[in-house]
Amino acid sequence: MSKIREILDSLSTEQYKMMIGEKSCQPLTETFSKKRVVHPGANGQMVPPVKQQEIWLEYMQRKGDKSKKKAVYIHIPFCSQICLYCGFFQNYSNEERETMYVDRLIKQLLMAKEYKYVQDSVINAVFFGGGTPSTLSPYNADRLLKTMNEVLPLANDCEITMEARVHDLVDEKLQVWFKHGVNRISVGVQSFDTAIRQSMGRKDDKETVIENLKRAASYNQAVLIIDLIYGLPAQDVDNFVNDLKIADSLPIDGMDLYQLNVFEQSALKKAIDNGKIPPAATTKQQAKYLEAAISYLDELAYKRLSVCHWAKTNRERSMYNTLAKSGADVIPFGSGAGGFVGDISMFLNRDLQRYMNAIDEGKWPLMVLTKEAEGKVLFKDIQAQTENCMVNIQKLAQVYSEELLQLEEVLNIWVEYGLFEKCGHTYKMTVAGQFWQNNITQTIIELTQQLLMGKKSFEVQPIAAQG
Ligand code: SF4
Repeated sequence: MSKIREILDSLSTEQYKMMIGEKSCQPLTETFSKKRVVHPGANGQMVPPVKQQEIWLEYMQRKGDKSKKKAVYIHIPFCSQICLYCGFFQNYSNEERETMYVDRLIKQLLMAKEYKYVQDSVINAVFFGGGTPSTLSPYNADRLLKTMNEVLPLANDCEITMEARVHDLVDEKLQVWFKHGVNRISVGVQSFDTAIRQSMGRKDDKETVIENLKRAASYNQAVLIIDLIYGLPAQDVDNFVNDLKIADSLPIDGMDLYQLNVFEQSALKKAIDNGKIPPAATTKQQAKYLEAAISYLDELAYKRLSVCHWAKTNRERSMYNTLAKSGADVIPFGSGAGGFVGDISMFLNRDLQRYMNAIDEGKWPLMVLTKEAEGKVLFKDIQAQTENCMVNIQKLAQVYSEELLQLEEVLNIWVEYGLFEKCGHTYKMTVAGQFWQNNITQTIIELTQQLLMGKKSFEVQPIAAQG
């Protein structure tokens, strides 16, 4: 009996349903009972706090490698108001607080000027995320972007993304961003429907959203991407497809479609529980939104760049996301930022005061430093494939181990379940497979760990409140 068969036979019925799913005539909604994880992956080992600085500095004194693409993530942990569904809010915007923060962020960038590892590298993508980086005043954005350009060894064609709220797409901010090379703006539209937007805490109405997007595009300086969310309260599939139609009529270059997660502790969960707003779509209902979106965007010949991202024009490269999801180094800056360097991953202090204190003491503001699980590079290659809605075990086996070929037994079960279609050696995800992509990825990683490394535990991370 093959090792993979032994592993599958050893699973309890519950584990089997969680990892492999169940055969159903409606695979899109019925193969799994829920989504297991938000971010598939393997857990690493935490480094004790007393060792963190020493290990970080040791990595930063290593020689960089110009042949490997790298990215930088810069976190701006401020928002002008809390969106109801948000699980990431850190601090309210306030000009004085932002100025103190940007002072420290500039100091952190200057610390990196002394790191051999950073200076020997070429940075291919920089992503300003948050929070809301676009809340920064023109003054603070100007000095931060100027320092970034001076300190980081940016590639000539470096993609520099600014995450933005619609409200901040005003001339005085746009001009500062473009002056310093921002060439991609990712705008959190979430919904064009005024009532839905405003019930979720977004300020602007549909007309303002459209006007501001057109203003940003009119400079012709940056790729313009929008995020839309499906499964919001009071939204239905027709309303969501209407959002896609509006988006397609605008001068954008691509879009990300995210399913709503109703986090247990969120204001949205409380508002739904108190009957103040209608319930959000269930996971099974969300599957129908994704199915409708794929069908609509396929008709328009949008190019699929990842499981949740579509390009409308060939200006969109999505370099940062591609690098981050394929295991490239991402060097983090700012309170709450996360990154990876080689076989370590890290989170910087989320608490604003602790972050600023660490910088003032000349320390890299680490909160968590983790030695990645054995097999990190292989797991990232698996994720890179599933992000592209396919799996090719033969390719992985050629690079890593023939043992991996046994995973085809599981892929063949998923073909039978309607999650994949087999084309030569490549297993292509059906629409159902794309909807359950996180579960599939997590299972392949866990089975790989067990096949090659003898690790036996399986992850179950209940992620959200909807059923
Ligand atoms: S702008 Fe983004 S980070 Fe800020 S509250 Fe809204 S969703 Fe959360």
